[in-house]
Amino acid sequence: MASEKIQFENNQLLVPDNPIIPFIEGDGIGPDIWRAASRVIDHAVRLCWQGKRRIQWKEVLAGEKAYRETAKWLPEETLQAFRTFRVGIKGPLTTPIGGGIRSLNVALRQQLDLYACVRPVRYFPGVPSPVREPQKVDMVVFRENTEDVYAGLELESSQEDARALIAYLAETKGWHIRPGSGIGIKPISKFASLRLLRSAIEYALAHGRKSITMVHKGNIQKFTEGAFRNWGYELARNEYPGSVVSWEDCKGNPPAGKIVIKDTIADIFFQQALTRPEEFDVIATTNLNGDYISDALAAQVGGVGMAPGANINYQEGYAVFEATHGTAPKYAGQDKVNPTSLILSGAMMLEHMGWKEASRKIESALEKALASRQVTYDLARLMPEAEEVSCSAFADLVCALMA
Ligand code: NAD
Repeated sequence: MASEKIQFENNQLLVPDNPIIPFIEGDGIGPDIWRAASRVIDHAVRLCWQGKRRIQWKEVLAGEKAYRETAKWLPEETLQAFRTFRVGIKGPLTTPIGGGIRSLNVALRQQLDLYACVRPVRYFPGVPSPVREPQKVDMVVFRENTEDVYAGLELESSQEDARALIAYLAETKGWHIRPGSGIGIKPISKFASLRLLRSAIEYALAHGRKSITMVHKGNIQKFTEGAFRNWGYELARNEYPGSVVSWEDCKGNPPAGKIVIKDTIADIFFQQALTRPEEFDVIATTNLNGDYISDALAAQVGGVGMAPGANINYQEGYAVFEATHGTAPKYAGQDKVNPTSLILSGAMMLEHMGWKEASRKIESALEKALASRQVTYDLARLMPEAEEVSCSAFADLVCALMA
């Protein structure tokens, strides 16, 4: 059986029946959850297409395993494999202390220019939640991945450069920055904002979503967060006049067939996501806001152990799907932790590839498994009458429920 590369032409992924997909197993609990998730993904594909379609997994190295074998945390061959094969998946990676790399995840996102961090957040019945009506949460967060305070443009308070910049700004702008301040720069460009906002709008249209909410702090940070919001409305007006309407223009009542674009200040959003979650659908936001929002929303539906994610460059067709939690080193190798985040990321990857039947099969089997209360320790300790099962036994259960 010939295995092939996924191609990208005319803004479309062309997925062969036997695509080669690179994977990074991950550190800590990575191997446990990868074994579980890959088994579930393969099983779903097999059930849907009886061998006609099959993923050819190709292991690539990053993190501790890469360092042990190649003395590099993120070898160039790994980056090259993601470029060549376009769609990949990864487990969690340790952030090396020292060694010149701030975070392997950030490095991967930057090197491949994966500008959209996409996090769907929905509730699975039976999963313990700290809120009364978690089923009302059904959102997809689009977080800008390349700019904002994450650009890493910082000067330590003791650096001469920081003192020089403070002096320069005092002289040229009349700004009084307290001596001894550390300085961070928050760039928000029209280019990066538009491509992120465009992805969110395209996603909302393709998935029959009702609204896009831009979450920002434009009331305070007018030329960065405020500009992000303004560019979003401008984009909707200029590029999507037939399909997207602003809340103001339709007074909250969109004509049939159109979706609404609206905005909210980040602090209010955190309140409303708890009190009126049903009013939010696709969320488009800047990097730092998106970081907080993704984890806060995940907490409402059972925590990061349950939340899938992807980092995507829609313009070039690159996508890396990932478990959103970390390496939980104290549970490494114990076959104990919850593989749901990586399983759902796998389902998201299949959907992205157009293999929707397999994706739906996984989601519905996962729903049944969680409802059966045979779950891993993290959920079992919070669920009444639950039976604790291992990571691999949970994967077996999901496979068995995939009729
Ligand atoms: P963590 O996510 O590893 O752990 C936080 C808590 O959640 C711990 O109590 C852990 O036991 C639990 N947990 C995590 N995943 C779980 C799962 N699947 N099932 C059940 N329980 C789970 O975060 P941390 O302890 O802050 O970070 C540990 C390492 O992971 C660090 O090196 C950090 O840099 C890295 N990290 C990587 C990623 C990533 O690769 N995307 C994300 C976050 C942290």
